[in-house]
Amino acid sequence: MPELPEVETTRRGIAPHVEGRRLLGAVVREARLRRPVPPDLHRRIAGARVRAVARRAKYLILELIREDSPAGALLIHLGMSGSLRVLDANAPPGPHDHVDLRLEGGRALRLRDPRRFGLVLFCPGDPPAHPLLAGLGPEPLDPGFDGAALAAALHGRRSAVKAALLDQKVVAGVGNIYACEALFEAGIHPARPAGRIAPVRLARLAGALRAVMAEAVAAGGSTLRDFVGGDGRPGYFQHRFRVYGRAGAPCPRCGGAIRRRLLAQRVTYYCPRCQR
Ligand SMILES: [Zn+2]
Repeated sequence: MPELPEVETTRRGIAPHVEGRRLLGAVVREARLRRPVPPDLHRRIAGARVRAVARRAKYLILELIREDSPAGALLIHLGMSGSLRVLDANAPPGPHDHVDLRLEGGRALRLRDPRRFGLVLFCPGDPPAHPLLAGLGPEPLDPGFDGAALAAALHGRRSAVKAALLDQKVVAGVGNIYACEALFEAGIHPARPAGRIAPVRLARLAGALRAVMAEAVAAGGSTLRDFVGGDGRPGYFQHRFRVYGRAGAPCPRCGGAIRRRLLAQRVTYYCPRCQR
C-alpha cells in the first residue's frame, strides 16, 4: 500500500509535468473506485489549469485555476494499489488504468488502480475544508510537528500508542509500516497507552516519525523519473526497514529477536527489549 512517503514521492514525480499545464478533460474507463468518480468530472476540469500539486496526508491535491481565479481542486487517493504516471495520452491503457486526466501537449496523468480502493474526486471549494481532509491531524513532515504537537494529539488517549498513531485525526498519513519503525526508533513499546508517555519520550517519537518519513522520501528521490513515460508501475522503492516485516530477525540495536503481534487488528513488529 502506498504510504505517505510514496505519495509524497509521487507528488514530486508528477508535479514538474503537471503544474502550470492546462487540463483538456478526463477519460474515465472505470468510475467504480472507493467512491464513484463524479460523472461530470470532465466538464468540471476541462480548460482549467493546474496551479500546484499539493499533498495532505495521503491525498494528492491538484489545485485548479481559471483566469488566475481558484477553480476547485482534484483530490486523488491511491488507495491500496494505485499509482500515477505521466505518459503519452495515446498510450494504450491497461486493464487497470481507470482514469486519465488529459493534459495540453499530448500527455495524460493516468491512474492505475488494480484493487480500486483509490479515488478521484472534484472539490469545488477550499480543499482543506473538504470533509475528507477537514478532520486530519498534523502532518508529520511539517516543520511545526514536534513533541508538543504530538502530546496535544495524544492527550487523554487510553488506546495503545501504535493504534493512536494510525488514527488520522492524531497524525495525518502515518501508516502501519512507519508507525512500527518510528516506535522502534523512539524506544517506545507499541502497546503503551498513548496518553501516558512522558513528554521527553513523545518529543523523541515526533522526531522519529519525521525522520523515518523523511528518510523514505529521500530514498524515493532516485525513482522520480519512473513517473514519466513508458508503462508499468512507478518504482516504489523497496525500503529497508529495521523492524517491519522482520519477525524473528535480530534487532539492529540489541541483537534480540524482533517480535510480531496483532495490536488493534494490525500486524505490529517491535523489539521487546529495546521498546518499553
Ligand atoms: Zn532490541
